[in-house]
Amino acid sequence: MKPKTKVIHAGIFGDDHTGAVTVPIYQTSTYKQEAVGITKGYDYSRTANPTRHALEVLIKELEYGKAGFAFGSGMAAISSVLMLLNSGDHIVITDDVYGGTFRVIDKVFKRLGISATFVDTSDQKKIEGAITEKTKAIYLETPTNPLLKITDIKKTAEFAHRKGLLLIVDNTFATPYWQHPLQLGADIVLHSATKYIGGHSDVVAGLVAVSSDELAEKIGFIQNSVGAVPGPQDAWLLIRGVKTLALRMEQIEANARKIAEFLEAHPKVVKVYYPGLEHHPGHELAKSQAEGFGGMISFDAGSGEAADRLLAKVQYFTLAESLGAVESLISVPARMTHASIPKPRREELGITDGLIRLSIGIEDAEDLIADLKQALDD
Ligand SMILES: *Cc1c(COP(=O)(O)O)cnc(C)c1O
Repeated sequence: MKPKTKVIHAGIFGDDHTGAVTVPIYQTSTYKQEAVGITKGYDYSRTANPTRHALEVLIKELEYGKAGFAFGSGMAAISSVLMLLNSGDHIVITDDVYGGTFRVIDKVFKRLGISATFVDTSDQKKIEGAITEKTKAIYLETPTNPLLKITDIKKTAEFAHRKGLLLIVDNTFATPYWQHPLQLGADIVLHSATKYIGGHSDVVAGLVAVSSDELAEKIGFIQNSVGAVPGPQDAWLLIRGVKTLALRMEQIEANARKIAEFLEAHPKVVKVYYPGLEHHPGHELAKSQAEGFGGMISFDAGSGEAADRLLAKVQYFTLAESLGAVESLISVPARMTHASIPKPRREELGITDGLIRLSIGIEDAEDLIADLKQALDD
């Protein structure tokens, strides 16, 4: 099945009972038992719900996994995966990881005895240098947020497996349309489905797919025990979102390339970060491990004041947190998504006050470019 067919035909098609072509929203918390323990496969909706199950089969198939799991947010997915670790364990993790991921590790998991070393995982030597006797997992985000750094998933997987470590990949930015970490050797892939998978800025959710039955059993146990699951309506919205994932990603990709080239040529733009640009340090690697570069572009406007002037002028780019939806969004990571990272550390990472992050939507590229042009030229 080709990718565009897959987003329509993967997972569970419609409803056998009625012939409905969409999976119904099973808005129920519990299920009638014929006798004690005699069920139709469902007994309580924290454990399993048919609408959520359809979504879980879908993400499993899109990510070429053994099993899929849905969560109430990307952070719930990430936290549930990190609960595979025990007190005393250590992980190596991408340094410019999503701000909330940094926070939950630094403020919550650290308190529970799980330590982490944040390194630039686009440099394999730095990953290898950070491993200790206590390391149990490597956690990657690629491309990263907001600097779009690229890590070699296959090489990292080979290294992780030589050392007996788990490889976890946050695939939110690349989407299961462009990049398949499990096929490159990762053990667990996860998403903030709030972003491209939902795609319409109307649902908060997370998804996980795993490569083995053993991991499926462990994550399934944590999912049911902790209970950070989405409701059936949100699960249904994600199934609906996936149906247009291919169309959206193709349009977003085409727009993003044009906009990155426009920004690159503009005299007021200090630097552009987009893996689709040839000078981007991860360009060749991105091309080899994913079928697209995605719709995130960051650029340095020079200063916080310049960034503020631009924000005040743009019309089609909505100032908002989040990314990956049909409408283009603009943000200043230093004061928004990455504000929870201390300033000295932000500066160290290159997340300057003038750094602007664009999430490209599916509008007409000419309008988006004209909008940025009038805001920059002013
Ligand atoms: C948004 C995001 C998350 C967190 O997901 P929520 O759905 O907001 O909880 C994790 N990773 C990445 C890369 C994200 O962009």
